[in-house]
Amino acid sequence: MRTAIVGGGAAGFFLAVNLKEMVPAMEVTILERSRQVLAKVKVSGGGRCNCTNSFANVTDLSQVYPRGHRLLKRLFKGFDHEDAYTWFERHGVRLTTQNDDCVFPASQDAHTIIDCLTGEARRHGVDIRTGTGVSRLADLSDYDYIAVCTGGQPRAEGLQWLADAGHEIIPPVPSLFTLSIADTSLTALMGTVVDGVQTAIAGTKMRSEGPLLVTHWGVSGPAILRLSSYGARHLADNGYRVPLSINWTGRREPDVRQELTDIAAQHPQKQVLTVRACNLPTRLWEYLVTKTLGERATNRWQNLNAKELNRLTNTLVNDTYLTAGRAAFRDEFVTCGGIALSGVDHTTIESRHVAGLYFAGEVLDIDGVTGGFNFQAAWTTAYTVAKAIQMKTENDK
Ligand SMILES: Cc1cc2nc3c(=O)[nH]c(=O)nc-3n(C[C@H](O)[C@H](O)[C@H](O)COP(=O)(O)OP(=O)(O)OC[C@H]3O[C@@H](n4cnc5c(N)ncnc54)[C@H](O)[C@@H]3O)c2cc1C
Repeated sequence: MRTAIVGGGAAGFFLAVNLKEMVPAMEVTILERSRQVLAKVKVSGGGRCNCTNSFANVTDLSQVYPRGHRLLKRLFKGFDHEDAYTWFERHGVRLTTQNDDCVFPASQDAHTIIDCLTGEARRHGVDIRTGTGVSRLADLSDYDYIAVCTGGQPRAEGLQWLADAGHEIIPPVPSLFTLSIADTSLTALMGTVVDGVQTAIAGTKMRSEGPLLVTHWGVSGPAILRLSSYGARHLADNGYRVPLSINWTGRREPDVRQELTDIAAQHPQKQVLTVRACNLPTRLWEYLVTKTLGERATNRWQNLNAKELNRLTNTLVNDTYLTAGRAAFRDEFVTCGGIALSGVDHTTIESRHVAGLYFAGEVLDIDGVTGGFNFQAAWTTAYTVAKAIQMKTENDK
């Protein structure tokens, strides 16, 4: 029995190793287009590989998997983050969970994961062929099973050979990026980090929350990366030019208004510029107050009239900018779109169009936010496919 795994990335290697563990007699070949395997693992998490997450603060999978959460909820019953954690530790990779729930190798080096996966694959005799791209299913007719693990494709044409086999392709668009903002008065605050910010794409229900970093080109940080993931398709459809609303305080408008009223009562003689509300960084506070009140920013709190208080409240909770495009995020980047989940069996991830054809990893229309969720999706789908092939071989006996 022979299995061809197309793509030597995270999903492809995890599938190969698990399949050999489950069905030692299976001949497994990895066909990798480029000269290097596991290239993304190498650069992942800034070279440290954020390989999964504790999921401790995930109450609903749709928070972390904008696409694919329903299928993953089902597949996690067979192999979830705890299984992945145990798997790597059992294969000699000591892991550590950070305070932010992200899991890394204790070595803080992605090579530990690469060495584990390549070492196990070699130990099991997996045939690894680099420089071998696949673009036709017909070329794999010698194999009993085929698993496509080709990762995110920047263009739908990269998946044409699978569309030709009957699969619907959800057009790929980027996810996990930062946003450019042309307003130089904001970007002059570069380096400013604000915790607990709420961001939203105005006029939609897409919103996110977390730390925000002002950069020299615009805005970054978890609050923006998550928003780029939730709004990946909307942003692409709008040429990455959308109204971005920032609630710098992360709080409700009435609470912010009350805090401003209290400050005015407690510090009537002080300048508005000099008493910060909502614990905002000094430079940001000065910028927001000046932006709202202009020359009157140097006025005393007692001279702030009701209209100005309202305007200041509004700037703090709904500061809106037109985004000017997207910019790459160095640490992680994934593709939204790929093989439509309607075209695969939701227990085995076997194609509904071609018997014996399976998919795992980012080639599927599954993607997550930053935090180790994308690798977890790769491990889970790869394990599921290995298990499905094992079951099939047993049933065929
Ligand atoms: C810079 C960066 C950092 C990241 N950091 C993290 C992180 O810390 N944590 C996290 O969870 N996720 C991270 N990700 C996302 C994560 O790397 C991917 O989600 C994951 O690698 C997907 O695994 P995969 O095996 O499906 O695809 P890939 O890892 O992309 O592997 C696909 C492989 O298939 C090969 N291939 C493609 N087409 C063909 C073909 N036709 N024939 C043969 N071979 C082919 C490719 O060359 C590639 O080697 C990061 C991504 C990037 C770009």
